[in-house]
Amino acid sequence: MGAGMERVECVVVGAGVVGLAVARRLALAGREVLVLEGDGLIGNGTSSRNSEVIHAGIYYPKDSLKARLCLAGRAFLYRYLEERGIPHRRCGKLIVATGEAQDPDLDRIMAKAHANGAVEVERWTGDRARDLEPRLRCTSALWSPMTGIVDSHGLMLAYQGDAEDKGAAVAFNAPFQSARAEGGGFVVEVGGEAPMTLGCRVLVNVAGLHAPTLARRIDGLDPAHVPGEWYCKGSYYALAGRAPFSRLVYPVPEAAGLGVHLTLDLAGRARFGPDTEWVDSIDYTVDPARADSFYAEVRRYWPDLPDGALEPGYAGIRPKIAPPGAPAPDFRIDGPETHGLPGLVNLFGIESPGLTASAAIAETVALRLGLAPSADFERPPLAA
Ligand SMILES: Cc1cc2nc3c(=O)[nH]c(=O)nc-3n(C[C@H](O)[C@H](O)[C@H](O)COP(=O)(O)OP(=O)(O)OC[C@H]3O[C@@H](n4cnc5c(N)ncnc54)[C@H](O)[C@@H]3O)c2cc1C
Repeated sequence: MGAGMERVECVVVGAGVVGLAVARRLALAGREVLVLEGDGLIGNGTSSRNSEVIHAGIYYPKDSLKARLCLAGRAFLYRYLEERGIPHRRCGKLIVATGEAQDPDLDRIMAKAHANGAVEVERWTGDRARDLEPRLRCTSALWSPMTGIVDSHGLMLAYQGDAEDKGAAVAFNAPFQSARAEGGGFVVEVGGEAPMTLGCRVLVNVAGLHAPTLARRIDGLDPAHVPGEWYCKGSYYALAGRAPFSRLVYPVPEAAGLGVHLTLDLAGRARFGPDTEWVDSIDYTVDPARADSFYAEVRRYWPDLPDGALEPGYAGIRPKIAPPGAPAPDFRIDGPETHGLPGLVNLFGIESPGLTASAAIAETVALRLGLAPSADFERPPLAA
């Protein structure tokens, strides 16, 4: 590495919820950490454009990273949110079959949930679900008591605070431009208002939607280890007036997402979303023309949704690493064991349940880098 260059032990690219969880984890292990954030604030990407649901770990293939890290992450999260006084509510969720043809889908989903360790998920009749939520239309349901909602910004601030207490820093308006492997570490070029060249030993790419593009700009990393990049937008509509339900209500999931569900914010307001729309660019505008399909989707489980009650809300974009129609890929947390470059971890395809799993993803990054397991988990999330 060149003389006179700024040096830091670890560079984390991206200050979303996962990047901040990684910064916290490395800083708590005594590492010197600098987070590079291209934007002017934390969590302005996918981390503030999601359903804010603490997922129970229901839908994912057994032993996948999504399943294991969701379960481990949710356990950590409920404990951490409680300790820190971060607003959250374990409100529970119903997954509903809206016709008898969907009843077997719920049996399959419950079997998956139990195989993943979410053994608290129960199979309910339609009548039992309506005892809890009288306005619901369904033939049968699954009840997930461990699902909840969280103030995701509060969570990110807590992760950032923990990291900064241990000496980590977040540099804003500091976009990663490129890096090259050199001398057992990396030389990183940072753009923005104050361009700089940084030397580091550890480089963690947590750039969300841009992670594959950034990985392709790491000289020394074989491009065979970088997936393609696709975007799948999800729009939300807010409900004017009182929420009809006190629990989250989800339909049977569709191919690219979990279906247009009802989620609640901590003030008790309801919103519906996200739908799925494959897009070529990042544009968070909610198209009012999509409202018709929302009315149709929501009325399958809430027939009394009044005309004109939905207002365009916000949108998020899923960082997909496989094209439309391909089977849903797992999270990728690629360390040296995958690509052979010591000190580098690339995170690809961190879509849902990335918020729930954030601390467990960070733990996995630490283990990929050879750090000792932390006390945050009873056992490492990937242990058999
Ligand atoms: C519609 C939708 C709904 C979801 N709902 C849920 C849910 O209910 N529960 C759940 O658990 N998960 C949910 N998720 C998933 C969750 O939101 C994500 O997994 C999580 O927010 C990903 O966080 P991240 O830090 O990896 O990425 P991001 O939040 O996207 O952060 C990446 C950061 O990298 C920065 N960056 C990009 N390029 C550069 C660069 N060149 N230099 C420096 N910085 C850069 C960006 O500015 C950004 O701040 C949902 C996702 C979507 C899209």
